[in-house]
Amino acid sequence: MIYRTDYHMHSLYSDGRSNPEDYVAPAIAAGLNEIGFSEHLTLFRDPEDWNMKPVNLEPYFKHIDNLRVNTKELKVKTGLEVDFFPGKEDDIRSFLSPLPLDYIIGSVHYMGETTVDHGPDFYEGKSIDKLFASYFEMVLSAVSSQIFDIIGHCDLIRIFGYKPTIDLEPFYRKLAESMRKHNVAFELNTNGRNRPLADFYPDRKFLYFFREEHVPVCVNSDAHMPMRVGQYFDEAYELLRYVGFNEMAVFDKRVRKMVPF
Ligand SMILES: [Zn+2]
Ligand SMILES: [Zn+2]
Repeated sequence: MIYRTDYHMHSLYSDGRSNPEDYVAPAIAAGLNEIGFSEHLTLFRDPEDWNMKPVNLEPYFKHIDNLRVNTKELKVKTGLEVDFFPGKEDDIRSFLSPLPLDYIIGSVHYMGETTVDHGPDFYEGKSIDKLFASYFEMVLSAVSSQIFDIIGHCDLIRIFGYKPTIDLEPFYRKLAESMRKHNVAFELNTNGRNRPLADFYPDRKFLYFFREEHVPVCVNSDAHMPMRVGQYFDEAYELLRYVGFNEMAVFDKRVRKMVPF
Protein backbone atom coordinates (compact mmCIF):
# COMPACT_ATOMS: atom_id res chain seq x y z
CA MET A 1 0.00 0.00 0.00
CA ILE A 2 1.52 3.29 -1.11
CA TYR A 3 1.58 6.15 1.35
CA ARG A 4 -0.21 8.98 -0.42
CA THR A 5 -0.69 12.63 0.41
CA ASP A 6 -2.40 15.51 -1.33
CA TYR A 7 -1.10 18.81 0.02
CA HIS A 8 -2.46 21.15 -2.60
CA MET A 9 -6.19 21.76 -2.22
CA HIS A 10 -8.31 24.92 -2.20
CA SER A 11 -11.54 25.32 -0.22
CA LEU A 12 -13.96 28.22 0.15
CA TYR A 13 -11.29 30.06 2.15
CA SER A 14 -9.76 30.96 -1.23
CA ASP A 15 -11.06 29.95 -4.65
CA GLY A 16 -12.19 26.37 -4.01
CA ARG A 17 -15.84 25.43 -4.39
CA SER A 18 -16.50 23.61 -1.11
CA ASN A 19 -15.91 23.57 2.61
CA PRO A 20 -12.80 21.80 3.90
CA GLU A 21 -15.01 19.00 5.36
CA ASP A 22 -16.24 18.09 1.90
CA TYR A 23 -12.75 17.04 0.82
CA VAL A 24 -12.38 14.31 3.44
CA ALA A 25 -14.67 11.58 2.03
CA PRO A 26 -13.26 11.80 -1.51
CA ALA A 27 -9.74 11.74 -0.05
CA ILE A 28 -10.50 8.55 1.85
CA ALA A 29 -12.08 7.05 -1.27
CA ALA A 30 -8.91 7.95 -3.20
CA GLY A 31 -6.85 6.03 -0.66
CA LEU A 32 -4.99 9.06 0.70
CA ASN A 33 -3.20 8.94 4.06
CA GLU A 34 -2.90 12.71 4.42
CA ILE A 35 -4.57 15.77 2.98
CA GLY A 36 -3.53 19.37 3.36
CA PHE A 37 -5.19 22.65 2.49
CA SER A 38 -3.18 25.31 0.71
CA GLU A 39 -5.34 28.40 0.35
CA HIS A 40 -4.07 31.17 -1.89
CA LEU A 41 -2.40 33.98 0.00
CA THR A 42 -1.10 36.98 -1.91
CA LEU A 43 0.77 39.30 0.41
CA PHE A 44 1.59 42.97 -0.05
CA ARG A 45 -0.88 43.62 -2.79
CA ASP A 46 -4.66 43.94 -2.85
CA PRO A 47 -6.26 40.51 -2.58
CA GLU A 48 -8.20 39.45 -5.66
CA ASP A 49 -11.28 37.27 -5.43
CA TRP A 50 -9.21 34.07 -5.66
CA ASN A 51 -7.05 34.98 -2.62
CA MET A 52 -7.71 34.54 1.04
CA LYS A 53 -7.73 37.82 2.94
CA PRO A 54 -5.08 37.83 5.69
CA VAL A 55 -7.87 38.59 8.21
CA ASN A 56 -9.27 35.12 7.49
CA LEU A 57 -6.06 33.34 8.45
CA GLU A 58 -7.08 32.84 12.09
CA PRO A 59 -10.53 31.38 11.29
CA TYR A 60 -8.89 29.21 8.64
CA PHE A 61 -6.34 27.80 11.07
CA LYS A 62 -9.07 27.09 13.65
CA HIS A 63 -11.27 25.45 11.04
CA ILE A 64 -8.51 23.11 9.88
CA ASP A 65 -7.49 22.37 13.50
CA ASN A 66 -11.06 21.26 14.23
CA LEU A 67 -11.20 19.19 11.10
CA ARG A 68 -7.91 17.52 12.09
CA VAL A 69 -9.27 16.62 15.52
CA ASN A 70 -12.52 15.29 14.09
CA THR A 71 -10.98 13.25 11.29
CA LYS A 72 -9.71 9.83 12.32
CA GLU A 73 -9.30 8.18 8.95
CA LEU A 74 -6.46 10.35 7.66
CA LYS A 75 -4.16 13.17 8.72
CA VAL A 76 -5.22 16.73 7.96
CA LYS A 77 -2.50 19.32 7.47
CA THR A 78 -2.51 23.10 7.34
CA GLY A 79 -0.70 24.79 4.49
CA LEU A 80 -0.81 27.85 2.28
CA GLU A 81 -0.04 28.53 -1.34
CA VAL A 82 1.75 31.86 -1.25
CA ASP A 83 2.57 34.03 -4.25
CA PHE A 84 6.20 34.82 -4.77
CA PHE A 85 7.25 38.35 -5.72
CA PRO A 86 10.93 39.09 -6.36
CA GLY A 87 12.16 41.87 -4.09
CA LYS A 88 9.58 41.06 -1.39
CA GLU A 89 11.45 38.08 0.04
CA ASP A 90 12.12 39.47 3.51
CA ASP A 91 8.58 40.80 3.96
CA ILE A 92 7.00 37.53 2.86
CA ARG A 93 9.33 35.47 5.04
CA SER A 94 8.72 37.45 8.20
CA PHE A 95 4.96 37.44 7.64
CA LEU A 96 4.88 33.68 7.23
CA SER A 97 7.42 32.44 9.76
CA PRO A 98 5.25 32.79 12.92
CA LEU A 99 2.21 31.09 11.33
CA PRO A 100 1.20 27.61 12.56
CA LEU A 101 1.72 25.81 9.28
CA ASP A 102 2.74 22.29 8.30
CA TYR A 103 4.17 23.49 4.99
CA ILE A 104 4.20 26.44 2.61
CA ILE A 105 3.84 26.06 -1.13
CA GLY A 106 5.49 28.92 -3.02
CA SER A 107 4.05 29.66 -6.44
CA VAL A 108 4.70 32.11 -9.21
CA HIS A 109 1.34 33.14 -10.67
CA TYR A 110 2.00 36.83 -11.30
CA MET A 111 4.15 38.25 -14.03
CA GLY A 112 3.71 41.97 -13.64
CA GLU A 113 0.08 42.82 -13.00
CA THR A 114 -1.36 39.66 -14.51
CA THR A 115 -1.37 36.02 -13.58
CA VAL A 116 -0.09 33.59 -16.18
CA ASP A 117 -2.97 31.18 -15.57
CA HIS A 118 -5.75 33.76 -15.93
CA GLY A 119 -6.31 33.27 -19.65
CA PRO A 120 -4.55 32.84 -23.00
CA ASP A 121 -4.96 36.59 -23.68
CA PHE A 122 -1.92 37.23 -21.54
CA TYR A 123 0.25 35.41 -24.10
CA GLU A 124 -1.13 37.12 -27.21
CA GLY A 125 1.39 39.37 -28.95
CA LYS A 126 4.18 38.53 -26.52
CA SER A 127 7.42 36.66 -27.10
CA ILE A 128 6.75 33.18 -25.74
CA ASP A 129 10.50 32.58 -25.49
CA LYS A 130 10.94 35.64 -23.28
CA LEU A 131 7.92 34.77 -21.15
CA PHE A 132 9.23 31.28 -20.47
CA ALA A 133 12.73 32.57 -19.69
CA SER A 134 11.44 35.19 -17.24
CA TYR A 135 9.03 32.76 -15.65
CA PHE A 136 11.85 30.32 -14.91
CA GLU A 137 13.97 33.18 -13.54
CA MET A 138 11.21 34.04 -11.09
CA VAL A 139 10.78 30.43 -10.02
CA LEU A 140 14.54 30.23 -9.46
CA SER A 141 14.32 33.28 -7.20
CA ALA A 142 11.45 31.65 -5.30
CA VAL A 143 13.61 28.56 -4.80
CA SER A 144 16.68 30.44 -3.61
CA SER A 145 14.62 32.62 -1.26
CA GLN A 146 14.22 29.48 0.89
CA ILE A 147 10.89 30.85 2.10
CA PHE A 148 8.99 27.82 0.89
CA ASP A 149 8.92 24.09 1.60
CA ILE A 150 7.45 23.13 -1.77
CA ILE A 151 7.53 24.95 -5.10
CA GLY A 152 4.08 24.84 -6.74
CA HIS A 153 3.61 23.94 -10.42
CA CYS A 154 7.15 25.06 -11.32
CA ASP A 155 6.35 25.46 -15.04
CA LEU A 156 2.80 26.83 -14.85
CA ILE A 157 3.72 29.00 -17.85
CA ARG A 158 2.94 25.88 -19.95
CA ILE A 159 -0.72 26.00 -18.91
CA PHE A 160 -2.20 27.08 -22.25
CA GLY A 161 0.06 24.92 -24.34
CA TYR A 162 2.22 27.68 -25.83
CA LYS A 163 5.55 26.28 -26.95
CA PRO A 164 8.75 28.33 -26.94
CA THR A 165 11.37 27.83 -29.63
CA ILE A 166 14.28 27.96 -27.16
CA ASP A 167 15.69 24.79 -25.62
CA LEU A 168 14.21 24.50 -22.13
CA GLU A 169 16.52 21.77 -20.92
CA PRO A 170 19.04 24.15 -19.28
CA PHE A 171 16.21 25.87 -17.39
CA TYR A 172 14.94 22.63 -15.89
CA ARG A 173 18.45 21.46 -15.11
CA LYS A 174 19.21 24.71 -13.29
CA LEU A 175 15.90 24.54 -11.46
CA ALA A 176 16.52 21.00 -10.22
CA GLU A 177 20.10 21.90 -9.14
CA SER A 178 18.88 24.95 -7.27
CA MET A 179 16.12 23.01 -5.51
CA ARG A 180 18.67 20.47 -4.33
CA LYS A 181 21.04 23.20 -3.21
CA HIS A 182 18.37 25.12 -1.32
CA ASN A 183 16.68 22.02 0.04
CA VAL A 184 13.25 22.70 -1.46
CA ALA A 185 10.73 20.10 -2.64
CA PHE A 186 8.82 20.22 -5.90
CA GLU A 187 5.35 18.93 -6.67
CA LEU A 188 4.12 16.75 -9.46
CA ASN A 189 0.94 18.74 -9.96
CA THR A 190 -1.77 16.73 -11.71
CA ASN A 191 -4.13 19.66 -12.34
CA GLY A 192 -2.44 20.54 -15.62
CA ARG A 193 -4.37 17.59 -17.02
CA ASN A 194 -7.57 19.60 -16.56
CA ARG A 195 -6.17 22.63 -18.37
CA PRO A 196 -5.43 23.21 -22.08
CA LEU A 197 -1.93 21.81 -21.47
CA ALA A 198 -3.51 18.41 -20.71
CA ASP A 199 -0.45 17.13 -18.86
CA PHE A 200 1.22 17.35 -15.47
CA TYR A 201 3.59 20.03 -14.19
CA PRO A 202 6.54 19.87 -14.47
CA ASP A 203 7.13 18.67 -18.01
CA ARG A 204 7.58 14.88 -17.75
CA LYS A 205 10.46 15.05 -20.27
CA PHE A 206 12.63 16.76 -17.66
CA LEU A 207 11.55 14.92 -14.52
CA TYR A 208 14.76 12.92 -14.55
CA PHE A 209 16.77 16.04 -13.70
CA PHE A 210 14.85 16.30 -10.45
CA ARG A 211 15.51 12.63 -9.81
CA GLU A 212 19.22 12.96 -10.57
CA GLU A 213 19.48 15.81 -8.10
CA HIS A 214 17.43 13.90 -5.50
CA VAL A 215 14.94 16.73 -5.17
CA PRO A 216 12.17 15.68 -2.76
CA VAL A 217 8.80 15.29 -4.47
CA CYS A 218 5.11 15.52 -3.49
CA VAL A 219 2.20 14.49 -5.68
CA ASN A 220 -0.53 17.12 -5.52
CA SER A 221 -3.88 17.57 -7.24
CA ASP A 222 -4.34 21.34 -6.82
CA ALA A 223 -8.03 20.43 -6.36
CA HIS A 224 -10.50 23.30 -6.31
CA MET A 225 -13.41 20.91 -5.82
CA PRO A 226 -13.74 17.68 -3.83
CA MET A 227 -14.12 15.41 -6.87
CA ARG A 228 -10.56 16.29 -7.93
CA VAL A 229 -8.79 15.27 -4.73
CA GLY A 230 -6.16 12.68 -5.57
CA GLN A 231 -7.04 12.92 -9.26
CA TYR A 232 -4.70 11.05 -11.67
CA PHE A 233 -2.54 9.90 -8.74
CA ASP A 234 -2.15 6.31 -9.99
CA GLU A 235 -0.64 7.66 -13.18
CA ALA A 236 1.46 10.24 -11.32
CA TYR A 237 3.03 7.68 -8.99
CA GLU A 238 3.62 5.31 -11.87
CA LEU A 239 5.41 8.09 -13.74
CA LEU A 240 7.56 8.94 -10.72
CA ARG A 241 8.49 5.32 -10.25
CA TYR A 242 9.35 5.00 -13.92
CA VAL A 243 11.71 7.97 -13.58
CA GLY A 244 13.31 6.33 -10.55
CA PHE A 245 11.73 8.06 -7.57
CA ASN A 246 11.01 5.75 -4.64
CA GLU A 247 10.23 8.11 -1.79
CA MET A 248 8.14 11.21 -1.27
CA ALA A 249 8.17 14.18 1.06
CA VAL A 250 5.71 14.51 3.94
CA PHE A 251 5.53 17.59 6.13
CA ASP A 252 4.60 18.21 9.72
CA LYS A 253 5.03 21.66 11.31
CA ARG A 254 7.40 22.55 8.48
CA VAL A 255 9.66 19.58 9.12
CA ARG A 256 10.15 17.33 6.10
CA LYS A 257 10.39 13.57 6.28
CA MET A 258 10.85 11.14 3.40
CA VAL A 259 8.48 8.19 3.11
CA PRO A 260 9.05 5.30 0.68
CA PHE A 261 6.43 4.51 -1.93
ZN1 LIG B 1 -1.21 27.84 -8.04
ZN1 LIG C 1 -3.25 25.97 -6.15
